[in-house]
Amino acid sequence: MICRAEDARGPEDGASEAGYGSGAVQGRPPGPETAAVIEATARYLFQTYNRAPVAFSHGRGTRLWDLEGKPYLDFVGGIAVSSLGHGHPALVETIAAQAARYLHVSNLYHIPEQTDAAELLVEASGLERAFFCNSGTEANEGAIKLARKRARERKGPDAHEIVAAENGFHGRTLGALSATGVERYRAPFEPLPAGFRFIPYNDAEAAEAAVGPRTCAVIVEPIQGESGVIPATREFLHTLQRLCREHDALLVLDEIQTGVGRTGELFAFRHYGLEPDVVTLAKGLGGGVPVGAVLAREEAASHLVPGDHGTTFGGNPLACAAACVVLRTIIRPGFLAGVRAAGERLRTGLAGFVSHGVREVRGLGLLVGADLESEAAPVATRCLDGGLLVNAPRPHTLRLAPPLTVAPEEVDEALEILAEALKEAAAPDPR
Ligand SMILES: *Cc1c(COP(=O)(O)O)cnc(C)c1O
Repeated sequence: MICRAEDARGPEDGASEAGYGSGAVQGRPPGPETAAVIEATARYLFQTYNRAPVAFSHGRGTRLWDLEGKPYLDFVGGIAVSSLGHGHPALVETIAAQAARYLHVSNLYHIPEQTDAAELLVEASGLERAFFCNSGTEANEGAIKLARKRARERKGPDAHEIVAAENGFHGRTLGALSATGVERYRAPFEPLPAGFRFIPYNDAEAAEAAVGPRTCAVIVEPIQGESGVIPATREFLHTLQRLCREHDALLVLDEIQTGVGRTGELFAFRHYGLEPDVVTLAKGLGGGVPVGAVLAREEAASHLVPGDHGTTFGGNPLACAAACVVLRTIIRPGFLAGVRAAGERLRTGLAGFVSHGVREVRGLGLLVGADLESEAAPVATRCLDGGLLVNAPRPHTLRLAPPLTVAPEEVDEALEILAEALKEAAAPDPR
């Protein structure tokens, strides 16, 4: 379900809250154990997140239980991270066994778990090499450094420009932030690295005008996740690919949210028939264990040589052992068909709410956005009360990204809770 170009432009106001919810989710008064955690959060932590007033004790599959023992269906999935759900037996067993063997040795040595994960990613993606890191933003830093050094060596130091999309989200460290198309996120931290320019998402004409001999890379999400699940048009992405080839620039697809089965294909670029030069991954790759990766064609990867880039934790045996379990599970025959079926069921159900509180449904596989007629935060709050976790990346948009292992009955149950929440949100507040 790829929407038309005119629907698919990013929203103009740039009000994305990058997954932490626009407007706090309130919920019912918390129980004593949760209240103590909320108090400690307020007292000891940087106040960088809008958190819902809930804390969990454990999970199983798609379900989480809070400290008071109330169950929830997890349709946030830790922001598209918990790809195999909670307490997945193979993941738990592998992590425990790896912890018992050894946790860390550093990249001063060869790491079999790292080469296993790299082989799986290379085989699955058609790209030729992998570099492991610890998060999404760090994967994009690697891609930016790779693009800059490659262009310097092939085209000279002037070819340092990176073209990115308005309302795109690439992370919070300075390089990835420079490529993030939300002025509000960038402005407080200026001066940022120079050489980034922005074009409206899905505007092929603007792409033609922006990409040129000075371009070293274009970085773009196949679906803008944090901006409210907005899919790229085929024309836009293919135009970018052609322009990159014409100007010897790298097409960097940020698949940090869309990769590793989330959209019902191993990578979202498969839906579009693209051949990217670089793909960045994180979120779902470790099923909850922090791990990111940069995948690249051989020619591109060859420009980073010893001393150019590195990370102490990146490719750590624990993280890579977890990634191997996730990847081996997802490439099993039938798994992605299950993701596509569950996604279809979810979107069809949501489409049934159109004109009953839902305006538009977008997305692919199990990355789904629903634009609401009303504000999304009060609906997310009512879902929380009803035992369903969803988040609101934009003021009028709910995002649903449950574990890829979600059962059809769990999709139906979530839809029932959401229907009730939409009904209540349309009625006056009884509290
Ligand atoms: C989440 C996200 C990032 C940043 O990943 P972190 O692990 O939070 O640094 C970058 N790009 C996209 C598309 C994302 O969804």
